[in-house]
Amino acid sequence: MRLQILGCSGGVGGTRHTTAMLIDNDILIDAGSGVLSLSLEQLTLIDHVFITHSHLDHILALPLLLDSVGAMRDRPVTVYAIDAVLEILRTDIFNWRIWPDFTEVPPANPYLRFSAIEVYETVQLGERGITALPANHTVPAVGYQLSSQTSSVVFSGDTAQNPALWHYINQIAVLHALIIETAFPQDEHGIAEIAKHLSPVSLLQELTQYQQQAPIYITHLKPGRETLILDEIVALNTQFHSIKPLQQGHVFEF
Ligand SMILES: [Zn+2]
Ligand SMILES: [Zn+2]
Repeated sequence: MRLQILGCSGGVGGTRHTTAMLIDNDILIDAGSGVLSLSLEQLTLIDHVFITHSHLDHILALPLLLDSVGAMRDRPVTVYAIDAVLEILRTDIFNWRIWPDFTEVPPANPYLRFSAIEVYETVQLGERGITALPANHTVPAVGYQLSSQTSSVVFSGDTAQNPALWHYINQIAVLHALIIETAFPQDEHGIAEIAKHLSPVSLLQELTQYQQQAPIYITHLKPGRETLILDEIVALNTQFHSIKPLQQGHVFEF
């Protein structure tokens, strides 16, 4: 299983792109601006899109992806999310005002199909398993466990304190990596709390519950404040976790 990071910034500017990950050549985890760097040919190969939540930085490329490649494909793209997220996408995006409802058009062969998933449910696509995990954000949200036949990567999604996630992570047999957000530096921890994101102190508090040895990759860093957030994490890391920034372009093979 090959997981390529297309975007992992909390925003844009220069080469920064927001959250999107490509599994092999046919599955997306979130559809932030990172998707826009794929070629047209690569975009046509996307069959499955798993969305963590409805915030724009995680979905913005989805409407454009469908419109760009829909007519070049012979079957719909399946978008998976929990019911509450699908309802928001139907009501607020694919509503004929922001964008067409591609679950209805073209009538003979619609470009889009929604598939509701439950938290802790696994969607099996060949040898690849994608399992929705709980998240604690300002809107309905999940993270995902990505499983090959031998090991897993866990992606927290956007989340604040999340005890259920640690309980789940600690019982995974072979964990290859944990990707977890830290969106704000410490001087914005108040905003982080309101927006239900982590900041360095709350990240390290969360990591006291982490009983695995797999390396930890930090994502969703606020643009322009990446170095500060990472320096603060390093200074607080008295538990000697293996922590590094997630890099756009990084490839996990597991
Ligand atoms: Zn969010
Ligand atoms: Zn976000």
